[in-house]
Amino acid sequence: MSVVLVLNSGSSSLKYRLLDMADERVLAHGLVERIGAGGSIRHRTDDVDVTVQTALADHAAALELMTATFAEHGPDLAPGVVGHRVVHGGSRFSAPVVVDDDVEAAVDELSSLAPLHNPPGLLGIRAARAAFPAVPQVAVFDTAFHATMPAEASTYAIDVDVAARFGVRRYGFHGSSHEYVSQVAAGLLGRPDAKLVVLHLGNGASACAVDAGRSVATSMGLTPLEGLVMGTRGGDLDPGALLHLMRNGLDADDLDTLLNRRSGLTGLTGSGDLRDVLGAAADGDDRAEAALRVYAHRIRGYVGAYLAHLGGLDGLVFTAGVGENSPEVRARVLDGLGHLGLALDPARNTAADRGPRVVSPDGTAVHVLVVPTDEELQIARHAVALAG
Ligand code: ADP
Repeated sequence: MSVVLVLNSGSSSLKYRLLDMADERVLAHGLVERIGAGGSIRHRTDDVDVTVQTALADHAAALELMTATFAEHGPDLAPGVVGHRVVHGGSRFSAPVVVDDDVEAAVDELSSLAPLHNPPGLLGIRAARAAFPAVPQVAVFDTAFHATMPAEASTYAIDVDVAARFGVRRYGFHGSSHEYVSQVAAGLLGRPDAKLVVLHLGNGASACAVDAGRSVATSMGLTPLEGLVMGTRGGDLDPGALLHLMRNGLDADDLDTLLNRRSGLTGLTGSGDLRDVLGAAADGDDRAEAALRVYAHRIRGYVGAYLAHLGGLDGLVFTAGVGENSPEVRARVLDGLGHLGLALDPARNTAADRGPRVVSPDGTAVHVLVVPTDEELQIARHAVALAG
């Protein structure tokens, strides 16, 4: 069966896409929002764009509303397989897997490592198994692409017994995006063996070093808090800062709020939306300008580190909301990296083109690329490969 339904469940939302994998065509896509606190669906096909408001108690109700909306506005909802995004696969899942009771229980257990992220994925899986009992369900994990990292890249240098007991190691995230984008970039360069650094810069952000299609290093760690400066998360931080704050009266919940919601661009400027920060900096706001410098400085550090880990570089790839849409951020990141063979062609960098493209000048040692990410398509490909 070549029709795949992809579900991406958040804590109060459910994103869906129906694809015909014979030609990877999108048949319908949509978003159910405000689950548990109101409720609405926006459903779109080539001919339809409808929004419906209705009360939704939980993810099962969201899925019911989705199926009812398909029934009313089309197309036929008869997937051969359902693909689910699951954030954390822990050490157990290094590849996509067909969901059974055992897998469902394991995803539940992994919620202790990803309390914000795994529970919604599980709710989506449970609701979809109930709604489509005869259809195979495939879980695709954000962490799985990074299972190829060598131990030296995934190990934190703490007491090995403590690390083992609590599962403390680097797992990495955004795997479906890094995998998809690195495949497109390698294809564009005609080099399946390419050494690439992928910069996924969205609200969440991470860097990944890819060697011949395999992740060998990534900036997110045990949780999606480590690494780059993000919309509301600050990335790398001396763990001693946490001890210092705890000893001065902040508890785990205070730190959770600080690290997940009050850091990154939000912490530095008051807004986590990079467009706001760029606008404020252009208007002469010093705080916004300083935040942009921190943002770019952190990324440059990872590019340099990964160039060293890879032992060379064929392509630096920008993706996600910021990476795809902001010529200014790309220019700020590459500023001063000419000695590494990294440069932008100003006209290519600012062109209105939306597709995968090279934005470096001809003849530079390293190609700079912009590749729009497509996590849903990557999940659909895995789902069909495993159970289609
Ligand atoms: P998510 O991680 O939630 O999927 P996205 O990948 O959509 O997020 O990225 C969202 C970020 O992209 C926001 O910070 C937004 O400001 C930024 N962004 C979107 N368009 C632009 C643009 N034209 N210029 C700069 N930043 C942009």
